[in-house]
Amino acid sequence: MVVVFQLDHISKAFQQTQALSDVSLDIDKGEMVALIGPSGSGKTTLLKLLNAQHMPTSGRLAVDGADIESLSRSSLKQVRQQIAYIPQDLGLVPNLKVFQNILLGKIGSTASWSLIRQFFFPTQAELTAIHSILEDVGIPEKLYQQTSSLSGGQQQRVAVARALYQNAHTILADEPVSAVDPARARSLVTLLSEISAEKNISVIMSIHNTDIATAMFPRIIGLKSGHLAFDTASPTEEAMADLYLIPDQQITEA
Ligand code: ADP
Ligand code: MG
Repeated sequence: MVVVFQLDHISKAFQQTQALSDVSLDIDKGEMVALIGPSGSGKTTLLKLLNAQHMPTSGRLAVDGADIESLSRSSLKQVRQQIAYIPQDLGLVPNLKVFQNILLGKIGSTASWSLIRQFFFPTQAELTAIHSILEDVGIPEKLYQQTSSLSGGQQQRVAVARALYQNAHTILADEPVSAVDPARARSLVTLLSEISAEKNISVIMSIHNTDIATAMFPRIIGLKSGHLAFDTASPTEEAMADLYLIPDQQITEA
């Protein structure tokens, strides 16, 4: 197994708020991981540490074996380029065509003049590459379509295609399914599982729907108040209940 992320006693504080406390774990290449826990438990903070948007307050985070705090600006940029981030709203520009949104995946690694050229005059090779990725996600016919004209499920596929075009070894997704119905949520997770298995891409997704997390992810990490509550293939019902208990409810009855 190749370890992609190594977290060694990671803590992250924002002024008075301790967002993460002493989290240690490894994530391997190709792993499919669900991140669950109540609102404010540190899920987004953990994802932002993984793609080096945040630096830890203490502890050590290594990506591909390199301590992120020791990297030069350009090495850090390279690390970030290999990690795709799908935000909750998918981060697509509605009035661009599908291929243009997918080109945006490479924005970090492309000189701006080149990006402008690609945007308006993509070469046949670029279009062929994007078309082939759209085939992988099941919507090859949408290449030239305006993104806002696609259904929500198709737009999820565009967001995944953009991550693939970026050539990412890891896809991070922050509650990308919380605004959609469970059927569509399941179809996105299924798509990401297939992509992860086919291309050996790690997928780390924070997710509200614990049924989907436990049924569809082989590894589930529970966060509670910034602490690692569990990291397991199948959390017990007790562990799940405890994760979502608010402190007041934990006071034992007299
Ligand atoms: P989750 O994604 O699980 O809802 P977050 O990681 O967003 O949790 O937040 C964890 C804690 O850190 C919360 O108390 C939140 O208010 C705090 N927090 C997150 N980001 C910041 C920030 N940039 N500045 C101050 N506090 C923050
Ligand atoms: Mg969050």
